Amino acid sequence: MKAVRDCELTGCTNPAVATLTYNYRESTAVIGPLPAHKQPYTTELCQQHALKFNVPQGWTVIRLEYSSEPPAPSQEDLDTLAKSILETARRVRIEIPHDPRITDR
Ligand SMILES: [Zn+2]
Repeated sequence: MKAVRDCELTGCTNPAVATLTYNYRESTAVIGPLPAHKQPYTTELCQQHALKFNVPQGWTVIRLEYSSEPPAPSQEDLDTLAKSILETARRVRIEIPHDPRITDR
């Protein structure tokens, strides 16, 4: 499980920071902020590829504002991660010292 998604271009393992969406009817490509969850029919790009992105002649690129830093994992992601660690530890019988900050919900 990975909280931060990778750039979707072949061979690139940088963290994704932006989403590319094509609007074929308007001959427009939109580069915008990364949603919390992967959306269908979009390509997620790292900062480098988002900046280098070019469209064919006759197309327009619309660049919306987005953060150049990958988004921090959400509380939901952290909860899922903590739960899977606790479950794995239970399965392989590793003793985890009780930490009152970690709750097993
Ligand atoms: Zn990339």
